[in-house]
Amino acid sequence: MALVVQKYGGTSVGDAERIRAVADHVARTRAAGDDVVVVVSAMGKFTDDLIRLADDVAPTRPPRELDMLLTAGERISMALVSMALAACGVESASFTGSQAGIITDTDHTKAKILEMRPDRIREALDAGLVPVVAGFQGVSTERDITTLGRGGSDVTAVALAAALKADVCEIYTDVTGVFSADPRVVSTARRLPKVSFDEMLEMAATGGRVLMLRSVEFARRHQVPLHVRSSFTWEPGTWIVEEDPTMEEAVVSAVTDDTSEAKITVGGVPDRPGIAAHLFRALADRSINVDMIVQNTGANGLTDISFTVVKTDLDAARDACLAVKEEIGAAEVTTDDQIGRVTIVGAGMKSSPGITALMFETLSANGINIEMISTSSIRISCVVRANRVAEAVRYLHTAFGLDAA
Ligand code: ADP
Ligand code: ASP
Ligand code: MG
Repeated sequence: MALVVQKYGGTSVGDAERIRAVADHVARTRAAGDDVVVVVSAMGKFTDDLIRLADDVAPTRPPRELDMLLTAGERISMALVSMALAACGVESASFTGSQAGIITDTDHTKAKILEMRPDRIREALDAGLVPVVAGFQGVSTERDITTLGRGGSDVTAVALAAALKADVCEIYTDVTGVFSADPRVVSTARRLPKVSFDEMLEMAATGGRVLMLRSVEFARRHQVPLHVRSSFTWEPGTWIVEEDPTMEEAVVSAVTDDTSEAKITVGGVPDRPGIAAHLFRALADRSINVDMIVQNTGANGLTDISFTVVKTDLDAARDACLAVKEEIGAAEVTTDDQIGRVTIVGAGMKSSPGITALMFETLSANGINIEMISTSSIRISCVVRANRVAEAVRYLHTAFGLDAA
C-alpha cells in the first residue's frame, strides 16, 4: 500500500463536472489500496478574478488582506471536493493550509515554508479519511494567513509529500505531462517521459510554468518523485527524477518561453567596486528577486547595469533603484516591460560544442535581435522583444530537432 499525494490544478477542478471526475479518480485510487492526500487549487481562474476584484475595490492592496482574500479560492475547492468524495462513498475531511500545519515566514503574497506540522493530516489518514488540503496557503509565525506565490499549490503538495514521506507526488493538470515546449505555443511539442530534476529546475525557472520552481527545488531536496499527468485523460505522464547516469543525455530537451519579466537599466553609474553591491542590496532588502544581470562598461569610467525582475515587482524595483540613485551616482533609471525570454535547456549541452552558435544563428536568420544573454551549464537564455518570443520558440524547437514526427 502506497501513500500518494494528488494535486489538482485550477482547470482540473474548474467546474462541478470536473470536481466529480476528481472525486471519482480519488475513489478509484483508494479502491486500488493506496492512501491518498488531495491538494487542490482554486477553481479555474478564480485567483485572477479575486485579484481583479481587489483592484476594482481599491488602488492599494495591503498584502495581509490580499492573502486573506486569495486563500478563499482554495477553501471553496477543498469543501466541494470533500462533498463530491462523500457522494462517491469516500470519507474525507478538508483542511486549510493553517489546519494542515504549514508554517511560513511573514512575507505576504510570496511566503516561504519554514516548518511542516501535518499532525491533523496524519490523524485523518490514520482514521481512514482522505484529507483534502487547500493549496497555496499557510499560516505565518505571526499567526496571519499567508500565500506561497502564484502557482503555489504545487509547493503545498510537494511539502506535504515530503513531510508525510509519500511514495509519489502526482501533479494533475490540463496537459498530459511536461513537453519539449509549451504545447499551447508549439503544436509539434512532444511529451517527455522523463525529465531530470536539473532540467526541470531550469525549465521552471525560465517559463515552463507546468511546475512552480519552488516545488521542484523542494522535491529535489527531499527526494520526492514527481509525476506530472493529465486529469482529463488520466494516462501516465512525465516523471521528474534524479538523472540516470547510465542514460545518454539529450543535448537539448526543451525550449521555454517567458514574458513575465521586465528590464530595468540603471545608466551612467561609476565603474568602481561597491556600486553593484549597494544597488542589489537595496533590491534584496525589499525582497525583490533579480534574475538576469548584464553590465556594460562604457566610456569615461561609467557603466550601465541592466537586470530583469518579474513584472509584478517592477514598480517596487524601480522605487528601490530611485532611492539609491543619488548615492550610487547614477544618471538615470529606465524600464522596459516589452521584453521576453527564450531558453533552450538540455543536460547534454555541457559536453556538446556549437549549441550556442546554432541558437544565435537560428535567431539571427529570422531577424530576431538578442538583447541580453545568460547561461548555465545546461541552459542558454536570450532576451528578445516580447512580440517575437512565440516564433523564436518555434524556430528553435525545429532547429534543435525537437518537432514531433
Ligand atoms: P495548473 O492550474 O494545473 O497548475 P498551470 O496552468 O499552472 O496548470 O500549468 C499547466 C500549463 O503549463 C499547461 O496548460 C501549459 O500551457 C503550460 N506549459 C508551459 N510550458 C510547458 C511545458 N514545457 N510542458 C507542459 N506544459 C507547459
Ligand atoms: N490558485 C493559485 C494561483 O492561481 C495557486 C495555484 O493554482 O497553484 O496562483
Ligand atoms: Mg500551476
